Amino acid sequence: MTANQQYIMIRSRLLLPLDEELGLETRIEDGYLLTEGAIIKEVGPYRPEIGERIIRTYGEKLRIIGTDQDGHPAGWEIPCLNGVILPGFVKAHGHDIQSGYIGIAKDESLLDWLDHAVSPFFHFLDESKEDLREHLGVTPYLLASLKDRLDDIYYGITSSLNHICHFNRENLPDLVESNTRAGTRMVAALGCKDRAFEPIFLDTIEEVISRLDECVAAFGGVERFRIIPGPDQVFSNSEKMLKAVKAWARDHDTLIHIHSSEEPANTRRFYRKYLSSPVQYLHRAGLMDENMMLVHQVNNTPVDLAIIRETGAGVVHNPLANTILGSGMPPIVEMMEMKIPVAISTDGSGSGDSQNILAAGRLASQYQKALHQDARLLPAQKVLEMITVVPAKMLRLNCGSLREGKDADLILIDLSRPNLTPTRSDNVVENLIWASDGSEVRWVIVDGKILKDDYRFITLDEEKVRNDLQELSQLFFLHSKKNSPDKVANEGN
Ligand SMILES: [Zn+2]
Repeated sequence: MTANQQYIMIRSRLLLPLDEELGLETRIEDGYLLTEGAIIKEVGPYRPEIGERIIRTYGEKLRIIGTDQDGHPAGWEIPCLNGVILPGFVKAHGHDIQSGYIGIAKDESLLDWLDHAVSPFFHFLDESKEDLREHLGVTPYLLASLKDRLDDIYYGITSSLNHICHFNRENLPDLVESNTRAGTRMVAALGCKDRAFEPIFLDTIEEVISRLDECVAAFGGVERFRIIPGPDQVFSNSEKMLKAVKAWARDHDTLIHIHSSEEPANTRRFYRKYLSSPVQYLHRAGLMDENMMLVHQVNNTPVDLAIIRETGAGVVHNPLANTILGSGMPPIVEMMEMKIPVAISTDGSGSGDSQNILAAGRLASQYQKALHQDARLLPAQKVLEMITVVPAKMLRLNCGSLREGKDADLILIDLSRPNLTPTRSDNVVENLIWASDGSEVRWVIVDGKILKDDYRFITLDEEKVRNDLQELSQLFFLHSKKNSPDKVANEGN
């Protein structure tokens, strides 16, 4: 794309707007979309006169997806790609850095995985960061975050929420840098904790509030990037800390993102210690409202569900992590029947082991159908909404749907693959959820800029990022063999 090309036109055999105004279930045959700068200008069914008008009007400023970029003579037909255009996926909960340790400490429960994968990796980065920077040419945090952006773009995730649980062990500037370089959209939930972890991970209230102010001052104006508070866990934050964070969030009219009730044994322990469930604890501290995003929420009492419904809080379900770690699954069918907003996400690469958000959606549906012995539950259409329009709304982003005036964040999924053949308008949504393997994302556009062009990464050097990350993980492996990991006295993540 040259500098003066401010318009992108894409035409495809199928188009799914996933938009409340255009109809969430609308399936357009031979659809097109035109972007103007960072915004969607037109979307709808294609007709030859539309193509002629657009070519005539925008001429050299127009980039037509799937063609070379040199001139479009009169009478020339805009190609109809064999694909489906849909909004980019919105990941409502994930953690950067984790792609450095996928596949480690599998077949272990949450707490053991934290001790055997997460903590050793953070200790490794802490101890070796200067050597690693010299060896790799960039900080290990930036490298790992760039790999996370690569994964996101690979799977068609255009917006991600990045929960920085261990704030004081991670590096926000590197994370911001990875998002800027990749061209993706990000909400960073800045973590905090003041109990239940070893001292190096703990914060004081003053530290947490002043760093929220400092981070907003430093990065609040960065393009496609926003900061919200994200206390790590309910059990790792005192009522005092939660109240202070809520006061800050209220002043800044913003969301709060928190892990809640992920693992049954841990939730039982919480109940015994604080004589209330995590949700009741949050409610008592004044945090439960429509600005609250509860991540996991696997274990619920009827009172918890009533509080969530009445206060308008949302839930982010992470089926890959919840099943791999044996944590159990939240009652999302009941939640949805109660009109509680539920988004589906991947969680971090370390526990979910992949950022394949379509696979996360499929698992969520498959599990509920089998559990309730009812194939009608969580149909593909709902699942697709739960990884696009629902999380976008939850995160207050102007994307997740394709309509005039929305952010130009979209993807094209290749329908020429054997596993997606035959696909027609009557089965396209179903095939995306049930037949795709996640690798068919051929084009990715964010803010009207192409990040992936016919499977080729444009903003990131794929080979370099992959090789460097492989090197980092090899060094971690050697380091782990030399040092037996310290046991960390934490209670969950
Ligand atoms: Zn998480």
